[in-house]
Parts: sequence; C-alpha cells; structure tokens
Amino acid sequence: MTQVVKTAADMKTRAFGLVPPAMIVAVIVFWICAPASWVDNPLTTTAVSVASLAFVQALELVNERHAGWRMYRLEFLTDLFYAVLYYAVISGVEDALAEAPLANAKNALGITTEWALHSPFIVQVALVIFVVEFGQYWMHRLMHNSWVWWTHAPHHHITQLNAAKGLVGNPLELFLVSLSVIAVFDLRKDATFCAFNILGIVSTFAHANVRCNTPRWYAYIFTTIEAHSLHHSVPYNDTRCNYANSLILIDRVLGTFREGEATVVGQDDRRRLSIPEQFIFPLRPLIALVKMKVAGFGAKSLG
Ligand SMILES: [Zn+2]
Ligand SMILES: [Zn+2]
Repeated sequence: MTQVVKTAADMKTRAFGLVPPAMIVAVIVFWICAPASWVDNPLTTTAVSVASLAFVQALELVNERHAGWRMYRLEFLTDLFYAVLYYAVISGVEDALAEAPLANAKNALGITTEWALHSPFIVQVALVIFVVEFGQYWMHRLMHNSWVWWTHAPHHHITQLNAAKGLVGNPLELFLVSLSVIAVFDLRKDATFCAFNILGIVSTFAHANVRCNTPRWYAYIFTTIEAHSLHHSVPYNDTRCNYANSLILIDRVLGTFREGEATVVGQDDRRRLSIPEQFIFPLRPLIALVKMKVAGFGAKSLG
C-alpha cells in the first residue's frame, strides 16, 4: 500500500515537472500566432508575465514543495508590492535610462544586425535568451564577489521561496540585474517578447514552492528550484554557485554549477527583512561608518 502511495506521489511530481516546459511551448505558440495588434501593444507581454506568475502561484496551493515556504498574508502582500514595483516602475526606469539610450546610440552610430532580424523566429528567441542571461550571469556573479553584494543581499535575506520571489529585492539591484545589451540587436518584437516571457516563466519556477520534478533535459539547460534553492543557502559562501537566473547551462559551462537542493534559505540569523529594511540595506556600511565616527567623536569629547 505504501509503495502504491509513493508511486502515485512520484507520478504527480513528474506530471507537475512537465508544466514548465509545457508553458514554454505554450508561450512560443502564443507569440507565433499573436496578431500584429497584440505584438504592437506593450501591455501584451506584461499580461502574459502576470498570467504566468498567477498560474504558478495557484500551483503552489495545489502541490507545495515545503510546508515551511507556505504563503501567508505578509509574504503575499510583500510579493505583490514588488511585482507592482517591478512592472509599473522598474521596467519603465530601465527602459528610459538604459534600453532607450542604448538604442539611440546604436542608431546614431549606424550599427545594424540585419542577420539577426532575418534569422528564424526561434533563433531570435534563443539569441535574446542567451544575450540577456549571459549579462545577468556576470552581473549576478559580480554581486556575490564584490561590494555590489550590498544591493543584492536583501534578495538573499528572504526566508522562503515563492513564485514571485525573483522580483523581491532592493530596487537598485532589480535595476542592475535588468540591464542588458539586447537593444544593440535588430530583432522582431514578438521574438523579443517571447524570450522575455520564457525567461520569466523559468525564473518564476526557479523560485516557486511547487513540488515538481522537471525532465533531465530541462534541468540541464534551465534553472530549476533545486539549483536556485541551493543558491539561496544560508552560509554566504554556499551562495557562490548557480548564478544564472534562467539559463543554468551557463553555470555548467563556466564551472560555477553545483548539484543539490536547499530547504532552509536566508542569510545570517535568517531574520526576515521588512520592505523599508530591504530599501535601505545598501546604506548599511555607510550607516555603520557614521555610527563609528560619532562614537569615536563622543569618546574623544569625554576624554
Ligand atoms: Zn544571488
Ligand atoms: Zn533568487
């Protein structure tokens, strides 16, 4: 009887593991079939992202991975705050301060990549995924190996993983990891949107509290919850692996991939940070320095 129950649970986990690749296929079909008016509407890609996120959040309720990561009111409201912040503010700021100036510079310098524009749809999708992920990989690796960590640390102070947690962090970090050079390439809009939706789906599943066992080919190419939860390990040094947000293949090629999975996530004493604490976190070294100076001045005055 126990064996029957175990087999049924295994089958369920495998079935849920087919959902991420199925969603990727669905998104590709969606963008291939999307009418021009949908492609020209900038809200379409956001709508697909939000719908994908809501769907994965629903899966968390149906088949959770760890009871300790179960969503509760405060976590949900925090995730909602960051989802709104990202889609309503950060993506617009990134567009205005980085994408648009880069596109203008490209046009002013007369740089063209006609070969990219005339590549098959799926090649353009793969190109965007690789270019964006390669840039994110190095930015993320830099964050774990330099003072830029102070912007990224709030993302690692989260004490549970959920579908929207990829969007939770200091706004400066969210801006930095959104930077890419994709504006240098001439590409079809639908292929670019498709690629960003695929990256969103993979990243959402890589943070989701969903019990699923993805196919081996998927886990070899894309970042899974196993690989990314290990990146969220509590000891700081154990976070220095599996940097790719969505394309774990880059970690495999560059030697930073580590096999395994973590259930307990967070940093230091695993205290959950509030939103104001996440916002001011990068100022901590400065605040500590000022406090030290003030204390030193006080000691001198007393002496
Ligand atoms: Zn990290
Ligand atoms: Zn993460």
